[in-house]
Amino acid sequence: MTHRTTSHLVGLIGTGVGPSLTPAMHMAEGRAQGLDYVYRPIDLAALDIAPDRIGEVLGWARALGFDAVNVTHPCKQIVLRHLDRVDPVAQQLGAVNTVLFTDDGTVGHNTDTTGFAHGFTEGLPDADLDTVVLIGAGGAGTAVADALLRLGCRHLTVVDLDVDRASSLARELAQRHPAAQVDASSFDKLSVLLPDSDGVVHATPTGMAEHPGVAFDPALLHTDLWVADIVYRPLDTELLQAARAAGCRTLDGGHMAVHQAVDAFALITGITPDADRMSRHFRQLVENRAH
Ligand code: NAD
Repeated sequence: MTHRTTSHLVGLIGTGVGPSLTPAMHMAEGRAQGLDYVYRPIDLAALDIAPDRIGEVLGWARALGFDAVNVTHPCKQIVLRHLDRVDPVAQQLGAVNTVLFTDDGTVGHNTDTTGFAHGFTEGLPDADLDTVVLIGAGGAGTAVADALLRLGCRHLTVVDLDVDRASSLARELAQRHPAAQVDASSFDKLSVLLPDSDGVVHATPTGMAEHPGVAFDPALLHTDLWVADIVYRPLDTELLQAARAAGCRTLDGGHMAVHQAVDAFALITGITPDADRMSRHFRQLVENRAH
């Protein structure tokens, strides 16, 4: 059940959430929609609260009048056992990033995975999804993988520096999506995989301002490959620059970042926000913070 009132109090719970752009994105859209919409970061590290106390923190937030919270690193998995209900997509993924406090209890959703799917459909609408390589098997990579498979990807290969992590994610994905072929591979196989792939999604921290570079050899990019990066600080990563130079269609990480907020805003308010307006605002915020 969503809250169809004009006043909303929302939080973002996690460690190191202070610099997040999500609060500003939600609040600007709330104002534009004529709502009293307040969204505050709740930094567990600054408050010296261990992440495994997320259940208590949810109880406090509810008691203090919050309508909903976004939950981020490192609480997205552990929060599940503290919820009354979990939406099937989030349950399948085993991770929640949005919790609604409803009259019927706490309800969890995952708008990282729906946000990637919506951003992908928006930015690369007719991209072929037969054979896709995912680089990065962490939390964000897992949400992306589920989204790709829900969108109809038929053969997904997961690659990570941590080979065990790639293999275990591939095994879990294969169980969750039995119609698809999902496997893990190592970096040295990219030279064989990428020439025959339709697209590649990059989901490691490489390319962020504090981790510059490209996670794999850009010489492997070719004109028939689409390239999606989920890094969004900066938006125009070295990978995307190399991909454009190679003639690839590209999707930047802003699409996922905006659409996770779009989907959360809709769940929290019951109002479909203006995704283009949120995207323009987000891109301004990234640009301003880069200087
Ligand atoms: P994580 O730490 O959970 O996982 C990162 C994974 O990448 C790990 O499995 C690690 O082994 C692997 N890795 C690291 N360097 C690598 C390399 N050079 N080559 C191959 N694998 C490598 O992190 P996460 O939460 O999954 O986030 C990853 C990145 O995704 C973040 O740094 C952030 O830039 C981005 N992100 C974007 C959005 C968005 O909305 N666009 C959302 C979440 C995260």
